[in-house]
Amino acid sequence: MSTHNPVFIPGPTNIPEEIRKACDIPTLDHRSPAFARLFKPAVAGIRRVLAMDQGEIIILPSTGTGGWEAAITNTLSSGDKVLAPRFGMFSHRWIDLCQRHGLDVQIIETPWGQGAPLAEIEAALRADSAHEIKAVLATHNETATGVRSDIAGIRRALDAAGHPALLLVDGVSSIGSMPFDMAGWGVDIAVAGSQKGFMLPAGLAILGVSPKALNAMEKATLPRTFFDFRDMLAAYAAGGYPYTPAVGLIAGLAKAIEMLEDEGLENVYARHHRLAEATRRAVAAWGMRPCAATPELYSDTVTAVVVPEGCNGTDLVQLAASKYGVAFGVGLGEVAGKVFRIGHLGMLSDVMLLSGLATAEMCMADLGWDVQLGSGVAAAQEYLRNSAGVALARAA
Ligand SMILES: *Cc1c(COP(=O)(O)O)cnc(C)c1O
Repeated sequence: MSTHNPVFIPGPTNIPEEIRKACDIPTLDHRSPAFARLFKPAVAGIRRVLAMDQGEIIILPSTGTGGWEAAITNTLSSGDKVLAPRFGMFSHRWIDLCQRHGLDVQIIETPWGQGAPLAEIEAALRADSAHEIKAVLATHNETATGVRSDIAGIRRALDAAGHPALLLVDGVSSIGSMPFDMAGWGVDIAVAGSQKGFMLPAGLAILGVSPKALNAMEKATLPRTFFDFRDMLAAYAAGGYPYTPAVGLIAGLAKAIEMLEDEGLENVYARHHRLAEATRRAVAAWGMRPCAATPELYSDTVTAVVVPEGCNGTDLVQLAASKYGVAFGVGLGEVAGKVFRIGHLGMLSDVMLLSGLATAEMCMADLGWDVQLGSGVAAAQEYLRNSAGVALARAA
């Protein structure tokens, strides 16, 4: 696989040269003031990206999955009930993690391609007059189906039901590429990972934790050691870490935040919306459709493309890798073979996206699918050249 071709998997994402260089630093004593100088701006930057007002940032050497585990074990106790809609592989895996920790998960089964069902969530919360549900879990952007859920809507459901449950949100494939408003949405824990919107290698779980979640932490009894927020916060207060931090990745994280803020977060979000819309125009021109059932559910970071009857999305992904050295995402779980996924999050430009759409088209033609070469690319080109906005001007 060419190291110069961009990847179109929905994480890990393309790593900008500046970030690769920023990660490459000599050994640094993490108990020295030099580490604190590196760490503090990264923490402050995450606070801005999450749009947090109060609470704490926790940065763990881990991945998004570790972030889920940390969110659960730091706020809940064995046997606690949590409410979670399941509508894709990532919402499923978080539920599985809760079950393996001995939590009682009330699952709202939701068809793949739909988002978190607000009316059903509100009904479940209203029915729970004894307030046994301690947390609502929500996957902001379901990476398996390319569906964005309405987190503000879940907050409204909690408030309408007068329910005190925590709101725990997986933002692994949205944060840093799609708008996220931790304070405005009343999110109690937001989970991100370094290798998606933050454009870094995998290796960091990044969490925003609200004062309410910190309160719950004091009472939570699920076992945790490596992920214990109390140890992290005590060590941060002393300017350090309870164990050896991933110093190179933290240096890269500070650079990533600088790049996101130089472009401007609003411009970053607008860029991803344009790239996503261009992708959707291409998909429509191919005579296909996104897995997300309706436009308000469309993700701006990943499009799961439903392939025509008789075609297999995994064939396209395998051919793109073997023949052209380009990575797309396969369909997972229920939609295996039925979709292929185009990741358009993190560091991506118009030019890069067009190369991916062109490669997908070549594969379709190679596989004998009924698609006109150039049709999707032309639709994307037409949209991109007529919607070039502030983000592009600034990047120039
Ligand atoms: C990638 C992803 C994860 C898992 O993250 P890892 O870093 O692979 O552990 C969790 N949730 C969503 C929505 C993701 O896209």
